[in-house]
Amino acid sequence: MPLAREAVELLVQAARAWYFEGNQHGLRDREWMALRFLGRANRFSRTPSALAGFIGATRATASQIVKTLESKSLLVRKPSHEDKRSVVLHVTAQGDKCLNQHDPINHVLNAVTALGTDECIRLRDSLREILNHLDAAHQRLDASICRDCMFLAERGPGTGKGRGTAEFMCRLYRAPISLEETELLCTSFERTRDRPKIEQHLDRGRVASQG
Ligand code: SF4
Repeated sequence: MPLAREAVELLVQAARAWYFEGNQHGLRDREWMALRFLGRANRFSRTPSALAGFIGATRATASQIVKTLESKSLLVRKPSHEDKRSVVLHVTAQGDKCLNQHDPINHVLNAVTALGTDECIRLRDSLREILNHLDAAHQRLDASICRDCMFLAERGPGTGKGRGTAEFMCRLYRAPISLEETELLCTSFERTRDRPKIEQHLDRGRVASQG
């Protein structure tokens, strides 16, 4: 069997962990996907429309999923600090606990962590490269983190107001971004090849903290 086909077929088998019939611990696979995304998304992407885009659903379907997660006290809506007419979705402490204990991808996460840091970084980079190829073939990369985004800029000392310790600036939202926020998912991400703006050695800390 060609090596590439064998690898892709293994990926398809791995995907059974997060695409399934029925529910696990009371949530269907799309509800898990939504909760997982909202637990990792930055403040610009925790909106009903960004959620709909990420999970590939209509606004009506995403809204129904939000209602289901709210009814289980896993999610709350709060007015946006940036735009009072908008709402931002927040995963509750109970939602975080649910993700930590029962997220169907946790077994895969543990298995990938067990590969070790170097293998983990290689796997991450290979998967990103594959997604970049798919992106070039007109399939969107749904979300990624600031460090590879063309809108991220370093912030000069003493510039801007609020979030005074923020090290970076998002040129799209014209908003300060802290180092921690650069690791959150954003659906407005636009890929750049001009990386890294953030030291690569941070990868090792990130892999270690996911264990
Ligand atoms: S820099 Fe890019 S990924 Fe980060 S918040 Fe701005 S648009 Fe989103």
